[in-house]
Amino acid sequence: MHGLMMNYPLTLAQVLEHARHIHSSKRVTTLLPDQTFHSYDYTTLYERVKRLANAITQLGVIQPGDRVGTYASNTYQHLELYYALPCSGAVLHPLNVRLTAVQLARIVQEAEDKVIFVDGAFTDQFDELRKKIECEQIVHFNTSSAHPSVAYEQLISEADPIYSWDIPDENWAMGLCYTSGTQGEPRGVLYTHRSMFLHTLAVNQADVFGLTEMDIVMPLVPMFHAMAWGLPYASMFAGADMVLPGAKSVCIADLIAETGVTVAAGVPTIWAKVYPELSERKRDISTLRRLIVGGEAMPSALIEAYEKNLGVEICHAWGMTEMSPTGTFSKLRGAHQNLSDAEKWRIKAKQGQPIPGVELRLAAETSNGFTKLPWDGEVSGELQVRSPWTASRYYNIEPTTEHFTPDGWLRTGDIATVDIDGYMQIVDRAKALIRSGGESISSVALEASLLKHPSVLEAAVIGVPDEEWGERPLAVVTLSQPIRADISDTFKQHLAVEFPKFWIPDRFVVVDEIPKTSVGKSDKRAILEQFASENLRDRSSAA
Ligand code: AMP
Repeated sequence: MHGLMMNYPLTLAQVLEHARHIHSSKRVTTLLPDQTFHSYDYTTLYERVKRLANAITQLGVIQPGDRVGTYASNTYQHLELYYALPCSGAVLHPLNVRLTAVQLARIVQEAEDKVIFVDGAFTDQFDELRKKIECEQIVHFNTSSAHPSVAYEQLISEADPIYSWDIPDENWAMGLCYTSGTQGEPRGVLYTHRSMFLHTLAVNQADVFGLTEMDIVMPLVPMFHAMAWGLPYASMFAGADMVLPGAKSVCIADLIAETGVTVAAGVPTIWAKVYPELSERKRDISTLRRLIVGGEAMPSALIEAYEKNLGVEICHAWGMTEMSPTGTFSKLRGAHQNLSDAEKWRIKAKQGQPIPGVELRLAAETSNGFTKLPWDGEVSGELQVRSPWTASRYYNIEPTTEHFTPDGWLRTGDIATVDIDGYMQIVDRAKALIRSGGESISSVALEASLLKHPSVLEAAVIGVPDEEWGERPLAVVTLSQPIRADISDTFKQHLAVEFPKFWIPDRFVVVDEIPKTSVGKSDKRAILEQFASENLRDRSSAA
């Protein structure tokens, strides 16, 4: 027997409408390129979103379900697009501005973005991409230069507010984000209104992000990275103010002191970098109560430094683009309260418990499928997940058993342990990805490109631990013919054609032979042991 409750669609229009009706005076503050602040309230945001949504449909090139790219930093215009595009039935596709034009062109081509909204901060680098893509219309914002394109403010000022939101149903696609593919090909994750709505409710629980109407939330995580971890929706549903840091790298301590940020979110690399700035205490950062940290492992020493010296609570999260992105969250439980501080920080450094709504299991692959492994904190296995906000397949790719199990779980590619209380800890990564500053670098893609160099016979790229970035790529190659020029310069130039700067290995090592596993693959563990030592520079023939 079915129940008799309303079949009320779960869409982002509910988030926007709630923010406007209940929290109309809450504010969005953006740091502009000239270091001044732009600030307006949710009522103004709402009115602009309504006009923008109408203007988008009037451009005449976007049909419901069409993908629309954004090439932008964290600004109020990007936030407006986060609502206007999905609520008018289009699919928001934030483009990672850190990728090269070559990488992005492939993504834009696959996504078939009809229109791209471009932030003035990136106009020049976008021009490179523009030459490589077919896109019907480009809309520029935050730009002073006259551009032969549609101007964002003009679009908004000339449009009437949209009469009603145009979302066919709750399972309609709302957003598309690309992962870095383990095999070198990025894969698209297509979120629905329902999945993003449920993710918003889930992260807003007290034991997850725990945002309240009294918070001032600053996502330092870029809005092109896994939907800024859902914060644009979670913050506005909670009625929190938002601070958006724009495109320029700025003094975070100043930003917090001037805007009263209470919760900020970003990767550990950022928090390690700004720790000295915050601990100098030249600015009053006493409003800051919590940092949400994820994307890569947060070292327990850094957790300790923030909690002990700055009195800022660290919440360590794990997730994936495929999970909208939040999967687990590390908070202490009542039973932990009497533990020593050191013990507490050890627990908080784990990636945490699945948030309500997420199921996880540890699995080992056998000849006839998977067996479930125990949660004893010792045995490690492949981490598999499922939830209402986890992808069931990738955009435009037939699901394969490499990524999804036959019984409907996502294979995360992370190797983990889970203890008896459900705290998950990542111990390794099965996928060939290097995590640097919270971004993925595909070792397979780098190897494939190195092998295209006429002098390279074999290539293996590994991630070596790095204090600043978490991991950095290191390339080990064997040569088919000697290279006269500087090896490091040669390979850096070769790779720069295809990959962004942060992908390029810091070091290139030429060897006679690359260590191999029993089945003849590059033995990356052995390579790591051999080459990641301190005196690498002495042994390497380059850089
Ligand atoms: P992305 O889809 O770019 O967000 O990357 C997801 C991957 O980042 C995960 O599968 C993990 O390998 C890694 N990751 C995310 N959060 C953490 C964390 N807290 N600790 C360790 N690795 C993480």
